[in-house]
Amino acid sequence: MRPVFVVTGPSGAGKGTLIKGLVERVPGLEVAVSATTRPQRPSEADGHDYWFLSDEEFTRRIDGGEFLEWVPYVSGRRYGTLRSEIDRIAADDQVCVLELELEGALKVQEEVPGSVTIFIAADVDELERRLRERATESTGEIDERIALARQQLERAHEFRYMVRNDDIERATAALTAVVECELVRAGTMAGS
Ligand code: 5GP
Repeated sequence: MRPVFVVTGPSGAGKGTLIKGLVERVPGLEVAVSATTRPQRPSEADGHDYWFLSDEEFTRRIDGGEFLEWVPYVSGRRYGTLRSEIDRIAADDQVCVLELELEGALKVQEEVPGSVTIFIAADVDELERRLRERATESTGEIDERIALARQQLERAHEFRYMVRNDDIERATAALTAVVECELVRAGTMAGS
């Protein structure tokens, strides 16, 4: 069975950076583009980083059954995985990678056969430093994200694997090793 990789963990843990390194190292992976109602950051492109939807449009798609999973996140913003993204990636004969917060990752773990969950952990002080340095949210929202991160770090054991992002090179290598191992096990990697 073709695996679906789900990378989860607290905001600021470096999931996006690790996934970028992973996709550069392992051929045949494609990251699903999520939908969100949060505002677009200056560095982001619609349809590349996210599908940026209005509240009305997001609700319309929930009602239409278009989401595999969706969650309300900090500041009432909603995030969700579109079934059409998973179908598109499978049709391209690629292996899907999802970047999700914890509740969404647990839902996919329960519901999608072949899903492999990987929790990215980081030191809370380091998370706080990254979020404040990135400065893409207001101070209030950063505080909210850090409080949530503290609770989330206690829940690493609910997922199949844990990778500690204390050093980006080491963590990218560890994530790559997990993914390659699972691809070989599933018989979906060249040379397996
Ligand atoms: P950010 O606003 O920093 O881009 O994302 C906030 C959180 O939402 C991150 O932890 C990210 O992994 C998560 N996220 C992004 N897309 C989705 C999605 O489609 N579903 C779920 N459940 N979480 C998502």
